[in-house]
Amino acid sequence: MSTGPKLRVALEDIPAYLPGKPAVGGDGAPAFKLSSNENPNQPLPSVLAAMERALRGFNRYPDMGCSQLIPAIAARLGVPESHVATGTGGVGVIQQVIQVVCDDRDEVVYPWRSFEAYPIVTQMVGARSVQVPLTPDEHHDLDAMAAAITDRTRLVILCNPNNPTGTAIRRAELESFLDRVPGDVLVLIDEAYREFVRDPEVPDGLEIYRDRPNVVLLRTFSKAYGLAGLRVGYAVAHEPVATALRKVAVPFGVSQLAQDAAIASLAAEAELFERVEHITKERGRVLDALRDQGWPVPAAEGNFVWLRLGERTMDFAARAQAAGVVVRPFAGEGARISIGEPEGNDLFLGVAEAFRS
Ligand SMILES: *Cc1c(COP(=O)(O)O)cnc(C)c1O
Repeated sequence: MSTGPKLRVALEDIPAYLPGKPAVGGDGAPAFKLSSNENPNQPLPSVLAAMERALRGFNRYPDMGCSQLIPAIAARLGVPESHVATGTGGVGVIQQVIQVVCDDRDEVVYPWRSFEAYPIVTQMVGARSVQVPLTPDEHHDLDAMAAAITDRTRLVILCNPNNPTGTAIRRAELESFLDRVPGDVLVLIDEAYREFVRDPEVPDGLEIYRDRPNVVLLRTFSKAYGLAGLRVGYAVAHEPVATALRKVAVPFGVSQLAQDAAIASLAAEAELFERVEHITKERGRVLDALRDQGWPVPAAEGNFVWLRLGERTMDFAARAQAAGVVVRPFAGEGARISIGEPEGNDLFLGVAEAFRS
């Protein structure tokens, strides 16, 4: 009698990634997907043109070393090419980061609630998650995070701004935290939403990493650049770390379509950042409206807002769905609502207002 192949025990506790629900409007009602922090704009014509050209080469493997994309990123950021490592989306890069520092049972310290991929990729490699609760005002608890670092800690993740609460870490607190982290512990600053940050006190990781060899930055083309479906992201780090990250990348993982679209997007950044500017203005409008309705919403530096609804979260999500807006609920905690088209945002605000009164 066979019991089947023996699978790794570490897999048993891996939480399933819950993707944002697709938008399906009942009875022909409009439906807005505000559940995955996607960019509501379709790719720019110049980016589509680059993608169309790439399609004809699909009988070939992609450029494995991303030898055009990496110099384009490095030039754009003003960093050495040797400091850039690409991956299959930001999530792929996070997985690479954990793979280069963690052995079995090593510890990864990160805030919680935060990005739901952190526990998944940590446990995938057999490392242990050390989740440090956010402060009551939805920020990283940096003192508690520093205190959570032990001899087994190999990685600390900071999510700046934090998904799903939208709060961001400012320069002085970030510097003082980094000063407290031992030099042999890597710190990943996840800047997936960097382009949406408008608080001038929130530092660009590029100014932070330069004289800190134990800091690695994460950026992605999924959010501000609107290429979530293509799976391309990258890390910026000093050479030993960046070299290691390239070693563990999935071979040929970043498709030529993704590489060419990313290069075209860097070239079209002015146009793309105008769109980002519209999204941040919309974010301001949504926040103001929520506060006028009496909601205690934290400052939002990403392309989403956070409502701490507690036990009423699932009820709120169901009512939003009925009104044609799909939000991202975290049962018992709160709901994250992406900033989308103004019409979708208005529908959401209508639900919020009715729910409040
Ligand atoms: C969306 C997101 C990423 C990266 O997503 P990819 O689509 O894999 O690039 C990384 N970190 C956070 C916090 C995110 O919200």
